[in-house]
Amino acid sequence: MNIILFGPPGAGKGTQAEKLINHFQIPHLSTGNIFRENIKNETPLGKKVKSILDEGKLVSDETVIELVEDELNKKKYEDGVVLDGFPRTVVQAEALDSYFKNKGSQVDAFVTLSVPEEELVNRILSRGEGRSDDTPEKIKTRLKVYHDETAPVLSYYEQKGIVKVIDGLGSIEEIFERTLKALS
Ligand code: ADP
Repeated sequence: MNIILFGPPGAGKGTQAEKLINHFQIPHLSTGNIFRENIKNETPLGKKVKSILDEGKLVSDETVIELVEDELNKKKYEDGVVLDGFPRTVVQAEALDSYFKNKGSQVDAFVTLSVPEEELVNRILSRGEGRSDDTPEKIKTRLKVYHDETAPVLSYYEQKGIVKVIDGLGSIEEIFERTLKALS
């Protein structure tokens, strides 16, 4: 099963992804985590994307698509994946569709976590993960990028009829129950 976990920064994608991978025993692919790992290890990819992440802007479609395709080609993803942070533009969504089509596969569910904007900012500021992009100014940029470039991805999948909108307010457990119910 291929699931996309979608939503604005701070919506809880990473947290719910962890729960979904445990429940369904399918691997997690978080582009943000991969970028942060590469930055930490000072790899060529890390050096290329560091200033972009620091600013809260998007890494180029070309770079992200190549990264995700290389990753999805690994054997561990052959029975499915929980995608978190990808696709983030319509160009990425189209590339993902053709990737799956070539493999005789498809996106099975698109789960979007709905959370009011003030709550998003509060959550990010209070989670204290020490991320360089978790400052009020960078959060503002990330939310703007989300509205301008990422939100259209939702309309793209709405046309395909696979979108499940989940109320993202409540306890982690409550939100997870809602997600499972929507997926069943
Ligand atoms: P969040 O959803 O909290 O903003 P992520 O961990 O998903 O955080 O992403 C962190 C950063 O990594 C983004 O702000 C962006 O710079 C980069 N990034 C992650 N995924 C993508 C993507 N699919 N396309 C472009 N940039 C991405």
